[in-house]
Amino acid sequence: MAEIKTVAVLGAGLMGHGIAEVCAMAGYNVTMRDIKQEFVDRGMNMIKESLAKLEQKGRIKSADEVLAKIKPTTDLEEAVKDADLVIEAVPEVVDIKKQVWEEVDKLAKPECIFASNTSTMKITMLASFTSRPEKFAGLHFFNPPVLMRLVEVIRGEKTSDETMDLLVDFVKSIGKVPVRVEKDVPGFIVNRVQAPASVLLMAILEKGVATPEEVDATVRRLGLPMGPFELVDYTGVDILYNALKYYAQTISPDYEPPEVLEKMVKENKLGRKTGQGFYDWSAGRPQIDSSKATDKVNPMDFTFVEINEAVKLVEMGVASPDDIDTAVKLGLNRPFGPFELAKQFGAEQITKRLEELAKQYGKKIFEPTKTLKEGKLEELLKKGKAEAEEKKEEDEFKTIKIEKLEGGITKLILNRPDRLNTISPELMEDLDKAITMLWDDKDTRVIVVTGAGDRAFSAGADLTTLITHPFDFLEHNRKGERIFRRLSEIPKPVIAAINGYALGGGLEIAMSCDIRLAKKSAVIGLPEVGLGLLPGWSGTQRMVKLVGISRAMQLALTGERITAEEAEKWGLINKVFDDDKFEEEVMKYAKNIAERCAPISMALIKRLVNKGGEVPMDIGMEWECTAAGLLFSTEDLREGISAFLRKDKPQFKGR
Ligand code: NAD
Repeated sequence: MAEIKTVAVLGAGLMGHGIAEVCAMAGYNVTMRDIKQEFVDRGMNMIKESLAKLEQKGRIKSADEVLAKIKPTTDLEEAVKDADLVIEAVPEVVDIKKQVWEEVDKLAKPECIFASNTSTMKITMLASFTSRPEKFAGLHFFNPPVLMRLVEVIRGEKTSDETMDLLVDFVKSIGKVPVRVEKDVPGFIVNRVQAPASVLLMAILEKGVATPEEVDATVRRLGLPMGPFELVDYTGVDILYNALKYYAQTISPDYEPPEVLEKMVKENKLGRKTGQGFYDWSAGRPQIDSSKATDKVNPMDFTFVEINEAVKLVEMGVASPDDIDTAVKLGLNRPFGPFELAKQFGAEQITKRLEELAKQYGKKIFEPTKTLKEGKLEELLKKGKAEAEEKKEEDEFKTIKIEKLEGGITKLILNRPDRLNTISPELMEDLDKAITMLWDDKDTRVIVVTGAGDRAFSAGADLTTLITHPFDFLEHNRKGERIFRRLSEIPKPVIAAINGYALGGGLEIAMSCDIRLAKKSAVIGLPEVGLGLLPGWSGTQRMVKLVGISRAMQLALTGERITAEEAEKWGLINKVFDDDKFEEEVMKYAKNIAERCAPISMALIKRLVNKGGEVPMDIGMEWECTAAGLLFSTEDLREGISAFLRKDKPQFKGR
């Protein structure tokens, strides 16, 4: 993959200078180009001012050092010839962008990546002005780039995966949060989600439902710093007008701005910048009379139309629910994303209200989207969450694999098959992370721990681990013990599916699980004594509890290996299955538990059984009564009993 060292930023205006600044702050060599020296100078002055403030606040070590990384120029060739990445932030005018990209394409190195900061143009169209559409994507920064953490990374129709990945990494490297926009749709994520709320705002005005002051007073009652009309004035009435025009052409005629807005633009009533918009700004910020708050508008309606749009984006495959929430929170400085809010309100209420709004204002875009209408929001969120987690896990884990299966079963696979799944320090770290992740994962009812490949569950500690000091070895042992204890404490049943060797540390992981199922050919043992070690990671302790002193001594003192069937006789293994049926039987076993057993009951039983033996029986029984009392208040208890009476399978929710 190409490496980015030098970045060319085209345009030294509002966005360009900020983008150049953040790239230089991250250590990139930057060239910043504008068409006239005075524009370049203005951009450099803005950067200087901003860096001085950052230096004062201690956010950067030296403003001069950062500044020295930026080379201002008016010469396009000089700006782009050595660049590995060109970020274009020239005015939002097609002809200008076309001319710029055609020229850049000729002057830049063939491997150079191109990105546009456009807000309202198709990335695919801009890419077509160059001979390398696969190396072209959108990089949509938010204003001001120095402060705003979000950057939308937009895939054009021909953008390659490599370009997307490279830009995502680049955005991370400049300390920003990238969100992947997988389809080149108008408004991308943040502006798109907000767009229907502007339509609603204009419809309220057009239909005379409430005045701007009434709407703003009502919204501000929720604690927001600005009402929506004041915000339009603040950012510019023309900006909203142009955005609505663009969406009317590209999404739906429902976005067409109302006459009243057009009139304001014609009369130069553009808000703060011209002194008059919906409010009079000639004497500074308008005073909004809070007593004008009214019941004629419901502020939640704005949220509902945004949620609807967010769901549409997921349906179209633009982004995942998680990414949309992240983008909206960071791009608009909001505490919650649309999907987080959707969970609070529930699909039914949202759908009903959207239907009313669509009818009241005659706007098709407010009609609840397919997923909402079919009552499938929860399904969509679950799918999105599973996909996001899978991706996160792929990124996060190197020596463990997590597989979410149907029916609430999650497989945790020790994944070093070429080394018999031996436990390296990295695997311990990964296991620790996986335990944290699964601990309160509501979708996981039962965890199955197993080994990758068909030779080993885990053949024990990785003996090639480099430890140079006795104290480090002591800590290494304590760490394993801690992680395995956490595995034993996860508040849901954990099954060890022993699919081959379970030796030393491998057996110690299996003993930290609640139930052990084994392949007939599995081999079990504690070989440490033969290596001059001892069964650490709680091996000497748990074994006694499971099989009694005499058998624990036999295994630990001799290092003898036993078969799965023998271990079953000892009570160390709960069940043994034939090799060819093993996978299938384990899944059947896990599914049975996941389907039939109430999650909170299982969590409490685990604690009582595991901890009960450590205290006098009287106290253990007292705990038992308290736990039973707690169960009495659960929905699951009512469901369990009523399912029993109606002779049906219970549908436990873990509540
Ligand atoms: P701006 O008008 O402040 O800056 C544009 C700069 O580009 C000007 O200095 C202009 O002289 C310069 N320029 C013109 N032609 C040029 C050329 N051929 N080569 C180099 N420079 C040239 O505009 P802006 O607000 O910085 O917007 C730039 C881009 O960023 C637009 O595509 C806009 O849609 C997008 N954007 C803006 C915002 C925002 O809040 N302003 C937010 C996100 C994205």
